[in-house]
Amino acid sequence: MSRIRLLDKEFEVYLDARTIQQRVQELAIQISADYMGTRPLFLSILNGSFLFTADLVRHLTIDPEISFIKLASYKGMRSTGRYTTAIGLDVDLLGRDVILLEDIVDTGNTLFQFLPHLQQQQPRSVRIATLLHKPEATQHPLTLDYLGFSIPNKFVVGYGLDYDGWGRQYDSIYQLVTE
Ligand code: 5GP
Repeated sequence: MSRIRLLDKEFEVYLDARTIQQRVQELAIQISADYMGTRPLFLSILNGSFLFTADLVRHLTIDPEISFIKLASYKGMRSTGRYTTAIGLDVDLLGRDVILLEDIVDTGNTLFQFLPHLQQQQPRSVRIATLLHKPEATQHPLTLDYLGFSIPNKFVVGYGLDYDGWGRQYDSIYQLVTE
């Protein structure tokens, strides 16, 4: 399918399934080489990264531990700052090599706010693996250690990413058609 319609919007294919699979496999090979002899903890950030995670870990040649979290952002009662906490984080991070798995880094707000909370638990190392990055949109100095694709600042769906709850199931990534 080269075009899909979700609710009121049209999307056209931007990264096809083969291209994605090829790149995910390359990332898995790279990560396996970098972490050879260790057992890193993959923290997959739901919902969007469930397919990326499932495909990536099947190509690893190391034995990983895999856990899933949701990040919730909320406003503090007495402060104007925003906080990002992890829901479902049930693994002790002390001394662990952590690899965060993200579907997409857009503004970077989510990860930038979450990283200090993660560091409080004193992991040995933290790296970020993201399938997609929108460099034009990113507002924070984040080091993306493993990056699938840099993409333009346009809304995308598919391969785990949704538009208002629709479109996560596709194995390709589609870009919003703006007429
Ligand atoms: P950030 O905090 O980096 O701005 O945003 C991260 C989250 O925003 C992603 O995990 C994703 O859920 C959502 N997001 C950002 N850009 C897109 C996009 O183009 N399409 C979809 N479906 N979600 C996006």
